[in-house]
Amino acid sequence: MQKKSHYWLLVPYIRPYSRTIFTAFLCTLVFTVFWPILAWLVGQMAKYISAGDVRAIAVLAGVAAAIFLVRGAAQYGQDSLMAKAALTVALDLRKQVYTHLQKLSLSYFEASKTGDLSYRLTEDIDRIGEVVNKFFHDFVPSVLQLVVVFGFMFYVNWYLTLAVSIVAPLMGVLIGFFGEQLLKFSRRSQNRISNLSSLLTEGLSAIRLVKAFAAEDYQVELFMEEAHQHRRSQFLAEKVKALQFVVVGFLEAMGVIVLFLLAGWQISEGNLTGISFISYLTAVAMLIDPITHITSDYNLFKQGEASIDRIFEILSVQPLVEDKVDAIALPKVTGKVEYQNILFEYLPNKPVLKNINFIAKSGEMIALVGTSGAGKSTLVNLLMRLYNTTEGKILIDGINVEDVTLKSLREQIAIVPQDNILFSGTIAQNIAFGKTDLDLPAIEAAAKIANAHQFITELSQGYHTYVGERGVNLSGGQRQRIAIARAILRNPGILILDEATSALDSESEALVQEALDRITQERTVFVIAHRLATVRRADRIFVMEKGQIIESGTHEELIAENGRYAKFHAQQFSMQAQS
Ligand code: ADP
Repeated sequence: MQKKSHYWLLVPYIRPYSRTIFTAFLCTLVFTVFWPILAWLVGQMAKYISAGDVRAIAVLAGVAAAIFLVRGAAQYGQDSLMAKAALTVALDLRKQVYTHLQKLSLSYFEASKTGDLSYRLTEDIDRIGEVVNKFFHDFVPSVLQLVVVFGFMFYVNWYLTLAVSIVAPLMGVLIGFFGEQLLKFSRRSQNRISNLSSLLTEGLSAIRLVKAFAAEDYQVELFMEEAHQHRRSQFLAEKVKALQFVVVGFLEAMGVIVLFLLAGWQISEGNLTGISFISYLTAVAMLIDPITHITSDYNLFKQGEASIDRIFEILSVQPLVEDKVDAIALPKVTGKVEYQNILFEYLPNKPVLKNINFIAKSGEMIALVGTSGAGKSTLVNLLMRLYNTTEGKILIDGINVEDVTLKSLREQIAIVPQDNILFSGTIAQNIAFGKTDLDLPAIEAAAKIANAHQFITELSQGYHTYVGERGVNLSGGQRQRIAIARAILRNPGILILDEATSALDSESEALVQEALDRITQERTVFVIAHRLATVRRADRIFVMEKGQIIESGTHEELIAENGRYAKFHAQQFSMQAQS
């Protein structure tokens, strides 16, 4: 037998709407009982038409009109209620998946493709909504219709109906077979389309690089290769679908031919009248619709299974970093930070940080220097608990960061990243990022400290100017000052700066530097330093190499030591010192 369908996973999401669905189902019942009545009416009509009884025909016509009216109302009730329930199920699911995604650890996103995730949250969930809708508002009514109409047919002539019943299961088997095949292709083509969309996201977001390397042809080639694969698997799926319709249609036609032969025989035997055969034929015609619907629904359900897999796969991932059950809120920190015997591995047995031990005093500014890949970013990421340490403890004001809630921890640490990303939204929203209430005076105050107020007010709509993908373009220095304002607004006890490697123009540079000088006061600051000026200003410098702090001290001390820093300084900073 088939393994348990993944659709059971949807039950908890559907249950809250069982009342709406039940009401819709009542409408369906009303709708369904009219099928045999209509079939019977057609027979009666034929009778009175052949008898030329105009009055009776008029009465029957009136009854039919009334039936269609009631039926229409019931159908509307069924459709609209079901659509509402299904769309809400999709909304709930979307909310849950997105909320869950936000909780997942950084490592999950490093291992997944953004395009693929966004495809799942849009297309896959839409498809699941459609499946739920189709199931209750198409599949269930069709099955009911099939049962009721069959019942009527048995009532009129069981012998003929038996013959029809032999064709039906045969069709069922064939439909099942094609459904399986279709599922295979559908899985493949869905993966293809999400490959395609990740490829697109990647290619378009790096378009600058693509152009710079004149790699357009290469990009098109990559893209077309995926697109071809996608076309191939989708075309196969379409072929299977087309074949399925042909086969089912042929079986239907055979059924009808046999039916006529058998009916002629039954009439000659006196078991059937011509009039009831007309009612009977009408009923048979009423079977075609639900069978077609059930067939196509079945295909949709099979495709939907792939979507359900992909959605519940996300939901089944456990966040690696999460609050302990008894996590406390980190009280307002003074900013004393202690790393004790830290060992950290992204991948098992590949330590990226080793033997990290230090105490940063409250208000101290620590510069991290070292070649790329030395472990500087990893070191500060651990402080925010973007990852859990593999071994050792990190304490803030004596409290282990693993014992506090992530929210309370991260609220007290702000970061000014290297790439100053702006989100689609207004400048005010970007500064208040992460807060739902917009406290405009506080935002302005933060922007003033960040040297951003002036240029913001010069923009056409001031703080309400749109930035981000579809908004105005801001210079690197302006972006950075917005990022600084964002950090200031949080008034964090601990600040992390990842200095931009690319140089700003000297005016911007001075404004940014001044802003940074202001916000680094009275906080503990970790700065991943690329500039000599920053390094000199730091209270202490940690020189990192291969995941270890190999030297620490002030600039003067380290130069005097004439060790690695002195060498590094000579290589990295001498140019800056001259300029
Ligand atoms: P730095 O900031 O000094 O350039 P990083 O902390 O970014 O150094 O990286 C330290 C080492 O960890 C590098 O070898 C890098 O390749 C590796 N690394 C960084 N991030 C990840 C990750 N998410 N997964 C696996 N390895 C990583």
